[in-house]
Amino acid sequence: LILWVFGLLVLLFIIASIYLFNAEKKSWESDELLEAKQQAEQANKAKSDFLANMSHEIRTPINAVMGMNEMILRECQDGGIREYAQNIESASHTLLSLINDILDFSKVEAGKMDIVPVRYELSSVLSDVANMVQIKAEHKGLDFQIQVDDRLPSELYGDPTRVRQVMINILNNAVKYTPQGSVKLVLGSAGTTDKIAAIQFGSITEPQITLEIKVMDTGIGIKPEDMEKLFKDFVRLDVRKNRNVEGTGLGLALTYRLVELMGGHIDVDSTYGKGSVFAVYLPQRIMNATPIGDFKQQHEQRLAERQKYHEKFIAPEAKVLVVDDNRMNRFVVKNLLKSTQVQVTLLESGAACIEVLRKEHFYIVVSDQ
Ligand code: ADP
Repeated sequence: LILWVFGLLVLLFIIASIYLFNAEKKSWESDELLEAKQQAEQANKAKSDFLANMSHEIRTPINAVMGMNEMILRECQDGGIREYAQNIESASHTLLSLINDILDFSKVEAGKMDIVPVRYELSSVLSDVANMVQIKAEHKGLDFQIQVDDRLPSELYGDPTRVRQVMINILNNAVKYTPQGSVKLVLGSAGTTDKIAAIQFGSITEPQITLEIKVMDTGIGIKPEDMEKLFKDFVRLDVRKNRNVEGTGLGLALTYRLVELMGGHIDVDSTYGKGSVFAVYLPQRIMNATPIGDFKQQHEQRLAERQKYHEKFIAPEAKVLVVDDNRMNRFVVKNLLKSTQVQVTLLESGAACIEVLRKEHFYIVVSDQ
């Protein structure tokens, strides 16, 4: 009996030791896991901060390039030089939109992306979009069509910058991934309501429309098995086939998040080898229900007005104070205002600005953040 009891005690001791050892090991492991997770999160944050800083820093010199180039376009009459400048303009726009995508993406990741709703004219947003896409489509020999439901409300309440960005991203992709054929933008309504469900606007009861933005292309299409990767960060599909197409794999990930932030959603339908349809549904408040009417005609009129730069006013008496610590930026602002004949005073710092403002009156103070 004594032997049995002793044996049992030894067994119990062994089991207890194994249990305790395992528990200790698990706690070490979970400590290690926690530490690894914290390190990964820190590394991810460092990456996002780096991206945000770098993109911000790059925007300053691009601003100088674009500003100076604009001066060449305004002042130079030589056709050949103007053509160089137009190419610089187009390349710097592409560069700027890449940088802006990275900056926006890091903002979304850090939870700092704000949707800023204002009252806006739908046709003006559409005109900007049409302008940008039309040129790219023409360069590729694609047929670009826009079809806008003429009953859509003319003025809405939402974030026009983000609405424009979403449309441009999807349309740019349609152009990029369509070697021949057509790209079509169809804008309509997926319903109106006066009961607000959208979280972003709170509990207000103003009428709302769900914009349906459809982009159809006759491009390379997307394989069914690739569909789920489409909106993932930095993912590019069909890499071999698309090796000559420029891209970062960021556009759709950003578009998806922006649409989500605006309370909308995206549907994709695609046939590999035939083409794709991207449909974005965006709730927007209606500010002016007067129908938008014939968009094509309005767009053509806007284009005709915009053909060549012309100052909107001349004000030799107006005094404008420009404050920026970047010499190049100050130079750009001064020159861009040249044809308005306003009197521009340039300053480097906020402190100098306050000092000057105590003594002198200015119509406008332009300062960076
Ligand atoms: P990218 O900068 O590579 O264009 P996106 O995030 O905008 O990145 O798109 C991710 C991937 O989805 C693209 O690399 C491309 O393979 C695919 N894709 C996006 N739009 C289309 C389209 N209209 N037709 C075919 N493939 C597309």
